[in-house]
Amino acid sequence: MLLRRVISHVRNQEWTAIAIDFLIVVLGVFVATQVANWNAALIERELERAYLLRLHEEVSIMITQQETERAETVARAKRLEEVAAYFEAFGTPDAATPEPVSEHCSGVISSHLFAGDITLPPTISELISTGQILLVSNQALRMRIVRFAQAIDEYGQLRHDIQVDRMVLSRKYPDLIRLSPVDRAQSVCDFPAMAQSQAFRNDLLDNERRFKAYAAGVIQGQQGLRQGLHDALDIELEITHVETAP
Ligand SMILES: [Zn+2]
Repeated sequence: MLLRRVISHVRNQEWTAIAIDFLIVVLGVFVATQVANWNAALIERELERAYLLRLHEEVSIMITQQETERAETVARAKRLEEVAAYFEAFGTPDAATPEPVSEHCSGVISSHLFAGDITLPPTISELISTGQILLVSNQALRMRIVRFAQAIDEYGQLRHDIQVDRMVLSRKYPDLIRLSPVDRAQSVCDFPAMAQSQAFRNDLLDNERRFKAYAAGVIQGQQGLRQGLHDALDIELEITHVETAP
């Protein structure tokens, strides 16, 4: 239809009409390209939102699941600190530090265990490995996601460093620790004898420092990363959570 009209205009040398025909063609191509671009952009935005919603879901679940482990790890670090304080005060006039209990014994026995999860949300792995991370249009959020992955690598390395030549106290000091075959909580520690063994105290202090670094760095650090990412995702996705009573 348009072609027939253009041919007729050329034959009759109607230059104004030809110019208008040309403009119509150019405009048509422009509009078609724009519509295609808008569609592509719309699809990208939908895909971005789907990824971010999935990530939000994963991070929320991880925060809930890991909270118990975080609290337990911090508590274990605290028990070790209390044992060290008890040893320090042992036999001195200000030995007011409470006697260690079975929880402290468990802490001593497991002071070489750094087995908590170091986990990257699967969606972050997918975003980075497929290059889809570029879909995340908020640059600050994109950087936060990339940094999350880097931090997880660093925590893995940190745990590796902490674990190297760690000391299994129950193996080295069987006369001071009697492991229960049933339950670690039923194991027995001879705390007064431990307090009088400088070798044991040195080894425990070494484990305590490692455990503290593990609790604060690997475990608390990860939970902090998750919280930070979750908050950023809430803002980006305009999600609000109803505060639950403490
Ligand atoms: Zn949220």
